[in-house]
Amino acid sequence: MSFMESLNVTDPYSPCNLCPRRCGADRTHGRTGFCGADAKTTVNLSMIHKGEEPVLGGAGGCGAVFFEGCSLRCIFCQNHRITKITGKGTVYDENGLADLFLELVSEGAGAVDLVTPMHFAPAVAGAVRLAKEKGLSVPVICNCSGYESVSTLKLFDGLIDIYLPDLKYYSGKTSAKYANAPDYFATAAMAVDEMYRQTGCAVLDEKGIMRRGMIVRHLMLPGNLFDSKHILDYLVSRYGNSIYISLMSQYTPMPHILSNEKAPAELKRPLSRENYDKLCDYLADLGQTNAFVQEMSSSGSLMIPAFN
Ligand code: SF4
Repeated sequence: MSFMESLNVTDPYSPCNLCPRRCGADRTHGRTGFCGADAKTTVNLSMIHKGEEPVLGGAGGCGAVFFEGCSLRCIFCQNHRITKITGKGTVYDENGLADLFLELVSEGAGAVDLVTPMHFAPAVAGAVRLAKEKGLSVPVICNCSGYESVSTLKLFDGLIDIYLPDLKYYSGKTSAKYANAPDYFATAAMAVDEMYRQTGCAVLDEKGIMRRGMIVRHLMLPGNLFDSKHILDYLVSRYGNSIYISLMSQYTPMPHILSNEKAPAELKRPLSRENYDKLCDYLADLGQTNAFVQEMSSSGSLMIPAFN
């Protein structure tokens, strides 16, 4: 059964129910949904990115493709500038997108890194399939917010080699406050289970480069140590060392948060080193050895790509 048949729709973008928001928007004729995207697959930036976890991409780095729009839209988003259609992106059809992936590999990328692609899932999955038919042989990474629909993820079954989801919030109160998504944890937990079903345990080659598996990222937020601990408890008890956990310290209060009088005060300050160190120790005490941590110097706008 094709994806379209499984959704029982003729046009997945009208009405659109691709993500857990299920906002039912008509994304045709330039209209947009909650995710800020219409039906045209729009890429803001493609680049060789050497800042991902060290097991991803090898010496050549990852060929990152940043899609415009986002269905989660956290208020502090570090990629805030591209969470809606900017008018400065490039629209691709499936064939053009497949060629873009192959171009990045010809420039040296050791993996293709799809960043926030899920609201364009039908087209992106088609492009990955085409690229593989045209000879793409490096791993394809799906880098996403974790707030995904299992039915949409199934479109990527057999096409994604490495899932790189976030698991951001445990408390529904927190996810409601920061992302207007009180169901975040329950929804993301089901999505991460589906990702793990598709890729299985982490597999690295003889050079230590990841070929298959899952790395779950958690960006620690100021003032949220207990929420972060719950996330780590969950991940370690459910998957342990069959996955990697990447604990990120790069939170940066963005100008749009600093200038927003209604934004929560804790998000206006940087992450404390003391709390980040406590969380790293906590992860180690849980027995997780497949883990990445970041230098605190990763905090700051230098980690944010120069978007169009
Ligand atoms: S992908 Fe966008 S338009 Fe579709 S349901 Fe989600 S928020 Fe709505």
